[in-house]
Amino acid sequence: MSDRILTAATVITMDPDRPRAAAVAVSSGRITAVGSLEECRAAAPGAEVIDTGAAALLPGLIEPHSHPLMSGVATEPPARNITPFQVPKWSDVEKVFAAAIAQTDADTPLLFSGFDALLHQRPAPKAPELDGIFGDRIAIVADNSGHGVYFNTALMKTKGWDVNPPADPPGAHFGRNPDGSLDGQGFETGVLIAVVGDILTTLGNPLLAGAQYYATMARAGLTSTSDMAFDLNLRGGYEALAAAPSCPLRVSMWEVSTSNTYTEPATFAPGDDWLIKQGVKLWTDGSPWVGNIGISFPYLGTPTTQMAGIDPAKAGGPQSMNYTRAELDAILDRAAPAGWQMALHANGDLAIDLALDAYEAALHRHDLVGTDHRWRLEHLGAGTRRHFDRAAKLGVHTSMGPFQYYYWGDLLDGQIFDREHGSRWQSFGDAAASGAVVSFHNDGSVSPPSPMLNIQTAVTRRTRSGAVHGADQTMTLHQALRAHTIDAARTLHRDTLVGSITVGKLADFTELATDPYAVDPTTLADRAVARGTWLSGERIDLDAFLAAVGGSDGTAHAHLAQRAGQPGCC
Ligand SMILES: [Zn+2]
Repeated sequence: MSDRILTAATVITMDPDRPRAAAVAVSSGRITAVGSLEECRAAAPGAEVIDTGAAALLPGLIEPHSHPLMSGVATEPPARNITPFQVPKWSDVEKVFAAAIAQTDADTPLLFSGFDALLHQRPAPKAPELDGIFGDRIAIVADNSGHGVYFNTALMKTKGWDVNPPADPPGAHFGRNPDGSLDGQGFETGVLIAVVGDILTTLGNPLLAGAQYYATMARAGLTSTSDMAFDLNLRGGYEALAAAPSCPLRVSMWEVSTSNTYTEPATFAPGDDWLIKQGVKLWTDGSPWVGNIGISFPYLGTPTTQMAGIDPAKAGGPQSMNYTRAELDAILDRAAPAGWQMALHANGDLAIDLALDAYEAALHRHDLVGTDHRWRLEHLGAGTRRHFDRAAKLGVHTSMGPFQYYYWGDLLDGQIFDREHGSRWQSFGDAAASGAVVSFHNDGSVSPPSPMLNIQTAVTRRTRSGAVHGADQTMTLHQALRAHTIDAARTLHRDTLVGSITVGKLADFTELATDPYAVDPTTLADRAVARGTWLSGERIDLDAFLAAVGGSDGTAHAHLAQRAGQPGCC
């Protein structure tokens, strides 16, 4: 590849040694000079100069917690997206249903992904309601939480469930009528696989659905991400996407601790720059929107929680933990000696305490205190200053989800929880003040990839409606930009490769339509739009990427479609 020099109206490096520049020189996929055009020309004589036309060129944006492959299978075509982020009202969801019926053959099963009782403001549908809409067409509606699935009688008939209702799979259950017949609802993985299963393996190429989600992330300006629920069944899909021309994402893998192989090394083609196994993922609690997070304070009994099927007498509390402390200790004791970087899902305050207690003890047991271990906490919805201070002291990184506050914030404050706890949800200010390393994520497919909206939310504390709750919980624009660039790279343990525009790093860049420091922060997501991305010094061509994957044979990846109703939560 020839040497080249990229220019833009300004280059924002996120490198404190040289925060701004006018040009970047690139050779063999790496950054060789950063500075004025003259300085880059002197460093790279004869290099082609390319004016990107960008108002600001940034290091390629990074999302350190996602599930890009399965998010595609769950939400991109042939699945139809009804998430409240794209389809906010139930009346609009009904229009998506009608369009799907009109546009497809009568024998094509229909999968809709992204129902959310809280944001669609209605209870989850059961079979009689879906029968009224879809008649004899097979129809499946997957919950956005990844915990529920809703289906009609036509689906039950193809499986014989209308005559012989199946028993509940381990750890999962069907909704049932008083006579034991299925009511058209099901919950947790075992049921999700049983419902979606073979229905979708005949539809489309799941690899193309994954590629479409890669493209969605790239259009948001992202260049590096992770899969926080990796298992070996996904390896072939990831390798095929990485090998496609103009692949727009580098992906770091955290293998789920429920797999048999989580302590074992895994290698990938085409190599560590593109795909790498980095750590092991485990969970303390679940999702705030389902009622299974570990909290010391109650869910409120309101029409909102009732609609979401959350019973305040049963929801929250220590019973929401997925693991006992002893179980967490056993996993940490297996993975820590192998050097894996741990990542622990924790939303509620009790769950974060449990995670920090387990981490602190394991770091001592394995002589890792004071080392560069970078063990991680994920989401931290109810995290307080005390939690972030503890994390900072232990060297534990914190990856937060501003989207939780942006989309659900108005409900959290006073309808789901009391003001004291709900208004402080996603305490960006406390996180920044603690000195802990903070990164941001959208946790696809839980919310759509939108790094600039995450940054806007952390800086302004405005929800989707424009309301502000917990006004003191903001961080600065620079802190928030770090959370999607250099600090996200540190959390992925990739900061020697990506995260800033620094000589020696991979030439990954994001072009923005405006300088984010020059606009009203409440307009960041609308104005600092990503215009394109570069990886290894090459401009990403999403049309070429999608065409190549679309033309490939997806047969070897058909098994991915069986998990389509189960997005990579959480
Ligand atoms: Zn996740």
